[in-house]
Amino acid sequence: MIRFGGALVLGATLSACGGAPQGSVPVPTVEAPPTAPATTKCPGSTVLVDATDLVIIGEITEAQHSIVEWALTRFDEADLRLPSEIRVSFDLTGDTCAGWPGLCLPDNSPPQIAICEPYGESGEQLLRAQIATLHELAHVWHRAQGDGSDWPDHRDIVGGELNGDDVRWQEQMKERVAVVVSWGLLDQLRRPVRSDLPCVSLYQQFVALTGHVPLEPIHDVCRP
Ligand SMILES: [Zn+2]
Repeated sequence: MIRFGGALVLGATLSACGGAPQGSVPVPTVEAPPTAPATTKCPGSTVLVDATDLVIIGEITEAQHSIVEWALTRFDEADLRLPSEIRVSFDLTGDTCAGWPGLCLPDNSPPQIAICEPYGESGEQLLRAQIATLHELAHVWHRAQGDGSDWPDHRDIVGGELNGDDVRWQEQMKERVAVVVSWGLLDQLRRPVRSDLPCVSLYQQFVALTGHVPLEPIHDVCRP
C-alpha cells in the first residue's frame, strides 16, 4: 500500500535533471535544454523499499496521487526498489521545472521530484504525465543504485557522456538511463520514447540496467 502524508515543503536549490520537454510526444525531437541552476548537495536516502511501500510526501490532489501511484506500481511490478520516502509535487505552471516536463532532486532528503506536465484523466495528456513521472522516478532509482555520491556510470550500456551542463540532454548518460527505464515500465504496446534507438535496443538496455525484462505488453518486434 502506498502511503501518503506530510506537508509539502519545497527547499534547496533546484537543479534540472528532468526529461526533455515532452511537448511533441511521440515525435522524438529534442529541444535545447535550458541553463540549469546550481545544485545543492544534500544527503540522499539509502533505504530502499518496494516501490508500493514508499511514503509519498507532498500536497498533491487525488488525481495527481493516482498518477504517482500508477508509476510506483509499475516500478514494483518490475521489482525496482526506491528510497523509502519521496517528496512529490505537481506544478502546472511549469515554473518549477524551468520548461522541462519534470524535475528530479535525487540528493535532497528525501529525494524530490516535480511533474510539470498538464494532465487529464485519459489520452495523450495523461500519457505524457505518466511518462514524466516514470522518468523522474527513474532518476531517483538510478541515483539510489550507487553510494549517493554520484550517478552510477552506465555508459557501457547506454553510451553517451558523463553528465554536465555542457553536455547535450540526449547525450547525458543519466538521461539515457531514465529514458530506457521509463520506456520499459510503460503499459502499452506503442511506447513514445525520446530516443532514436530501435525498441529491441531499448529492451536490451533495460535488461542490462535493471536485471529484469521490460513490463508487458511488449510488441514482438521489440523482443531480442
Ligand atoms: Zn531526466
